[in-house]
Amino acid sequence: MIVENDVNETVQLLSKLIQNKCVNPPGNEIANLKTIELHLKSKGIECQIFESAPNRGNLLARIKGAKDGPRLMFGPSHVDVVPVPNPDKWSVDPFGGEIKDGFIWGRGAMDMLFIVVSQVQAFVKIFEEGIEKGELILLIVSDEEAGGTFGAKWMMENHPDLIETDYCLTEMGGAFLADGKVVFMIGEKGGAWKRIKFKGTPGHGSMPYGSNNAVVKASKAILRIQNYCDNKIPLTTEYLGYLAEGLGMSKIQKFMVTTKSLLPLTLKLIGKKDPDTAKIIHSLSRMTMSPNMVKGGIKANIIASNASIAVDIRTLPGQDEEYVLKHMKKALGDLAKEAEIIQIEEEDGGVNSKGNSSEPASEFVSLLEKSVSMEFPGSTLVPFLMPGVTDMRYFREKGVQSYGFSLLDPKTTAKDMSSLPHGIDERIRVKTVELTLKVYYNVAKLAL
Ligand SMILES: [Zn+2]
Repeated sequence: MIVENDVNETVQLLSKLIQNKCVNPPGNEIANLKTIELHLKSKGIECQIFESAPNRGNLLARIKGAKDGPRLMFGPSHVDVVPVPNPDKWSVDPFGGEIKDGFIWGRGAMDMLFIVVSQVQAFVKIFEEGIEKGELILLIVSDEEAGGTFGAKWMMENHPDLIETDYCLTEMGGAFLADGKVVFMIGEKGGAWKRIKFKGTPGHGSMPYGSNNAVVKASKAILRIQNYCDNKIPLTTEYLGYLAEGLGMSKIQKFMVTTKSLLPLTLKLIGKKDPDTAKIIHSLSRMTMSPNMVKGGIKANIIASNASIAVDIRTLPGQDEEYVLKHMKKALGDLAKEAEIIQIEEEDGGVNSKGNSSEPASEFVSLLEKSVSMEFPGSTLVPFLMPGVTDMRYFREKGVQSYGFSLLDPKTTAKDMSSLPHGIDERIRVKTVELTLKVYYNVAKLAL
């Protein structure tokens, strides 16, 4: 059973991890891994740290039951955090790990150190009480915020046999939408970032008539891409039904959101009142294409002979490279034959991964639901697809059922969820740490 002292220890551990300041880049996650190792050792638990680069690595521990059974992993959970570009705007020291007003404050508190410490402490409790069957695995990793090269991906490439599992539980999820409806993540969109290049013919800028200008072509292309993404790209409502359910929409609202032909109108109506929800509906209903960078020309009086656009493309599960190129070409129209479309490689900061998803309903998912209803009787789980990319993709590729799971204090608002991770005054409620510790403990008890 989880008692008050467990919650206190978890909160103290969170504060220490924040103070260790494992900002990526460069990461230096070894500081957090050592702190966790020390905590586990003080409880008599053996663990292993695998060094993936100087001062970086991944921590693994396991508990085995006497009988055969399912393997459950807490993780892959990352201990790196993103930088703090404007510490003067914070009301506390971003790396002080202060505990005040019912919160733990600091960079990483929400993304995702509170889940890490809840998992570590739940693992400790389960170790002390033992499991009947199967296996509980704890995997703490580095480098999630920069793509996982030295973290989850490194473990998958170097020690795949040690991290074999049936289920993974890690960030994020756990927010209450409508009454008693708790979000959990079943999958995520993929990334297929592209650079589109145009060529022109240089000439004097004082006589532009009839010129072949690469910058003009790029700007036409930008408008076409945006228009195609908003108005012409094929739509799906597969992931919107869950959302409508979770938000507790009325029958008519649900019909509006889940009927493809009504979706453009629905987006306009919702967008006026609730732009945040409209953004989510837009991203869950299609492959999105956002032209976010543009470069071109060399001088104001020379007709541009080169221009390029960087486009952030996010795919739904099942949409492959062929799909991406087909629709990019359609979007460009007659400019497609002049455009050179190339992938932005990961070394250049690109994101290239397939959209992926685990089962929205299964025996294991009902155990997750039960573990939540032990804290909030009668509550149900609502599956959700994340627009962003996480380490879970490496596990779903191997067929592991992977879920984003935590349990937030119902006082946490949708605004907290969107503004605090990576934001100013990042913090987490002590109550959220307690609830997340309890659900992780509950689910391991139920499953193993
Ligand atoms: Zn994260």
